[in-house]
Amino acid sequence: MADGPKTAGGREGGRRSRADGAGGREGARGSREDGAELPKTYDPAATEERWYRTWDARGYFRAVPDPSRRPYTIMMPLPNVTGELHMGHALNNGVQDCLIRWSRMRGHNALYQPGMDHAGIAVHVVMDRRLAKEGLTRFSLGRERFLEETWKWREEIGQAILGQMRRLLLSCDWKRTIFTMDPGYSRAVAECFIRLYNKGFIYKGKRMINWCPKDQTSISDLEVEYVEEQSTLYYVRYPGAGGDDGVVIATQRPETILADVAVAVHPGDERYKKLVGTQVVVPIVNRPVPVIADRRVERGFGTGAVKITPGHDLLDYEIGVDHKLPVLIAFDPHGRMTMGGPRYEGLDRMEARQAAVDDLRSAGLLVREEPYTTNIGRCDRCKTTIEPYISDQWFCRMKALAAPAIGAVRDGRVRFHPGRWTKFFLDWMDQIRDWNISRQLWWGHQIPMWHCECGEMIAGIERPKSCPKCGGTELTRDPDVLDTWFSSALWPMATLGWPDETADLKYFYPTNTLATARDIIFLWVARMIMFGLELRHEIPFTDVYINPTVLNIEGRRMSKSLGTGMDPLLLIDRYGADSLRFALLNRCTGEQDLRFSEKMVEDTRNFANKIWNAARLARLHLEGHDVPAGRPRGARTLPNRWILDRFARAASDVTAALEAYEFHTACHRLYEFIWSEFCDWYLEMAKVDLERAAEQPAAETRHVLGWVLGQTMALLHPVMPAITEEIWQALPHEGETVMRAPWPEPPDAWRDAAAETAMAEVMEIAGAVRGIRAELGLATQPVDASLHVADGDRERVDRLRPYLAHLVRLDPDRLPVRGLDEHGAFGISSPYGRGRIEIHVEAPELRAKARERFEKQLTLLERDLAGVTRRLEDPAFVQKAPAEVVAADRARAQGLVERRGTLRRYLADLAPPSRPAPPGSGGVRPR
Ligand SMILES: [Zn+2]
Ligand SMILES: [Zn+2]
Repeated sequence: MADGPKTAGGREGGRRSRADGAGGREGARGSREDGAELPKTYDPAATEERWYRTWDARGYFRAVPDPSRRPYTIMMPLPNVTGELHMGHALNNGVQDCLIRWSRMRGHNALYQPGMDHAGIAVHVVMDRRLAKEGLTRFSLGRERFLEETWKWREEIGQAILGQMRRLLLSCDWKRTIFTMDPGYSRAVAECFIRLYNKGFIYKGKRMINWCPKDQTSISDLEVEYVEEQSTLYYVRYPGAGGDDGVVIATQRPETILADVAVAVHPGDERYKKLVGTQVVVPIVNRPVPVIADRRVERGFGTGAVKITPGHDLLDYEIGVDHKLPVLIAFDPHGRMTMGGPRYEGLDRMEARQAAVDDLRSAGLLVREEPYTTNIGRCDRCKTTIEPYISDQWFCRMKALAAPAIGAVRDGRVRFHPGRWTKFFLDWMDQIRDWNISRQLWWGHQIPMWHCECGEMIAGIERPKSCPKCGGTELTRDPDVLDTWFSSALWPMATLGWPDETADLKYFYPTNTLATARDIIFLWVARMIMFGLELRHEIPFTDVYINPTVLNIEGRRMSKSLGTGMDPLLLIDRYGADSLRFALLNRCTGEQDLRFSEKMVEDTRNFANKIWNAARLARLHLEGHDVPAGRPRGARTLPNRWILDRFARAASDVTAALEAYEFHTACHRLYEFIWSEFCDWYLEMAKVDLERAAEQPAAETRHVLGWVLGQTMALLHPVMPAITEEIWQALPHEGETVMRAPWPEPPDAWRDAAAETAMAEVMEIAGAVRGIRAELGLATQPVDASLHVADGDRERVDRLRPYLAHLVRLDPDRLPVRGLDEHGAFGISSPYGRGRIEIHVEAPELRAKARERFEKQLTLLERDLAGVTRRLEDPAFVQKAPAEVVAADRARAQGLVERRGTLRRYLADLAPPSRPAPPGSGGVRPR
C-alpha cells in the first residue's frame, strides 16, 4: 500500500483508503514504498501549502444549513481593501480560526464568513495619493472616472488580500466571500437606511460636525484622533465699546477672532460681574459684541473670559444657540479664510493665525503668549487637523437605538471577554450622541434619498417617477455616501442574505463569537448590536472576544512607517503559519497588549521540531506492526497508564481554557503536555517497554503511543493546523482528516491516581539522582548507584528500576534496590520520600576531588552565612532596614543553613573510614 502506513489499524476500520492519502502529497516525501515516511526535517512551507490546497479542494471549509447539526458562526472582521495583512490580522484571524476548527471538531456546523470592506474614506486617502503622483485629484477626474479607477484598483488588491489570508491557513468558506459593495450587500444597506429613515431614526440637519479639510468630508466623532501637542495660548485684549479697558481673553485660535460674536464669563465670577451686559470690541474686525454669562465657561481657564465663535467650536456653537447669537464662518471647506478683507481672504487657516498674531501685536492688543499643551483633533485617516464646521448632514439618532443594546449587554445576552470590556462598553453607550452618517465622498453606498426642487425628500432604492408633493419629475439623488461603518454594522446579517429571510439567515444568525480589537468596540461592535436588535430584533452574536493589541517587544505600536512593524508573511515564510499562530495565541493573556518578537515564532518552530521528532520516533516503533486506531482500554504498564491519565487532564484543561477564551492557558498547557509529559517522560519510559522481549507491554505501548500522539495532534490542531494533519495522517487513525476528528473529551473515569503517585516517585528519584550527579560533576559519566527503601517497598520500586535506569542513563544492573539500613561504601546519599538514594564514588581520586569540591563550597558558604547572621544580629539593622530586606535576609540565612547541612552530610558520606558493610548487601564493595 503506497498511501497509508502499515500501522494504520485494519482491525478498527481505521485504515485509510487510497484517496485519503492522495491529497497532493506526492513529491513532498521520500520513499513511499514502505508507508508514509516522515522526512527527517519538517518542511512547514510545503506541508502547509499542500494540506491547505487539499482541505479546500475537498470542501472541508464549506458550511451549508443542516438542521440536524448545531451551527457555530464567526463573521470575520472585514479587512479594509486598503492594505496588507499585518500582525493584528494574524492574531485576530488566528483566534477565530482556532475557535472555528475547534467547534467543527466538536461536531458543530461551523461557518467562518470571510469578506472585505470597501473602507470609504481610507480608500479615498489611498486613491488621492495615487492620483497626486500623476498630478490629478478626484475632482479633476470626476465622480464616474474616479469610481472606475477605484474599482480597478480594488480588484487587484482584493485578490492579494485573500491570498494573504489563505497563507494563515484560515478555514473560511471562501465561496461566500462578500465585498460590502456587492449588489446584494448594497441593497441591504439601502434597505436599512430607508427603514431607519421611515421610523424617524435618520434625519438631515445643519449641525456642527468634524470636517477634514484635506479629505473634504465630514467624519464622525469616533474617527477623530486626539493627540497631545504643544501649542500657544494667546492673551488678547478686547477693548470696551465705551473706551474703557474692556476684558482680556485667552485663546489658542486667534485666526477665528474674525468670526467672534460674543465674550463669555462664568455667572459666578466676581471679577467680571460688572462687565456682563456691556459691549466689547472684537480686535482686527472692530465689531462690537456683548459680554454674556454662561455656566459652561471654565473659570480657571486663562483669564476666565473667553471669546465665543459659534462657527468654529462645538461648545461655542451650543452656547450661541442658547443665547441666540449669530453664526459667522471664517473659512471655506478647504480651511481657507473667507473673511477679513484682502489681507486675510484666501489664506490657509494656519497662515491666518500668524497674520492675526502680527496684527494683534501691532495694535498693542496682544497682552502675552504662553506655551500650552492641548489635545488636537486629527483625522484618523489622513492626520489633518480637524475643523469643527457647520454643515448640512445626515444623522442617526442613537439614544433609542442604544437602549436595547445596553439591555442585551447588561442582562448577559451579549458577553464580553475579558469581562472588563463590559463596563467600557456600557459607559460609552450611556453617553451616546447622534451619529453623523453622511460623507462627502464618492466611494461607498450613495444615500438612497431623492431631492425634488420643491424641497421634498423621498427615500427609495430606485428613482421615484415623480414627486408625491408637487408632481415634479426633476429628482436628483443625494450626492453623499454613507459612513463605512454604517454598512459594516450590517455585516452579520447582510452576509447571510438580509433583508431576505434566507435559509442561511435563519440557520446561522445570531452568530456565536465576534473576535475583534478594542479600538473598534464603539465604531463597529456597538453598532452591530444596535442594528441587529432594531432590524431583526435579535442580537448579532452572543460573545465578544477582545484580543490584545500586538506591540513590538519594547512595547511600541507596530507601524510600517515607524519601522516598528513585523510582516506576518515574512514570518510565515521563515517559520510557517502554524508557528506564527501558536506564538501569537500563546501570548493572548487577559492583558490589553501583547509584546511580540520574532524570537517567539522561532521558539515555536523549535517546539514544532520537537513534535516532529517525537512523531518520527513513534513511527519508527509502530512501523511494520498492526496497531489498532481506536482508543486503548485496560492499559497495564505504568507509563501507559500515566500518559492516558495526563492526556485526559491536558484535554480537559485545554477545553476549559478555550471555553473561557483563555488562549494563552490552552497553548501553555499543550506545550507543557507535549514537551515535558509526553516527550521528556513518557517517550523515554515507553522505549523501555517497546524494547522488552515480552510482546504484551510492547504491543500495548505501541497502541497507547500511537493513540495518544494522534489525539494530541487533534488537541493541537485548532492552533497548528498543518503539522498536526501531517502527523495524524502518519499514525493509526479513523476518518479522513484530523479537521473532522472528534474533539478529545476523555471522561473523568480515565484519571488514574495510582499511576500518578507511582510516577511522582519515579520523577522524584530521577530528579534526585540527576541532582547528586550534577553536584559531583559526574552528570554524564557512568556511576554506580543504589536505591534504599523499606522492605515492604522493595518489590514495587524494583519494578520501576528499568524505567529509572533509562531515565537517568544508568545501566539497570548498576542501580540495585537495597534495604534502608544497608549502606554503600564511599557514596553520597540523598533522602527522597520514604527512602534514600546513594551514588557510589569508589575511585579514590574521584572521591578526593568530590571532597575538595564540597569543602570549598562549604568554606564560601560559611563566610556568606557569617555575614548575613551578623547583620541579622544587629538590632539597628533589624529595626531600621525595610521589612522586606530583613525578611529576604532571614530567608537567605535559612537557605544557607539547609545547604550547609547537605554539604556536611555529603562530606560525612565521603569521609573515610568506611562504614562496615552489613552482611548480605551485595552492592557494597568495601575497600
Ligand atoms: Zn482626512
Ligand atoms: Zn416636489
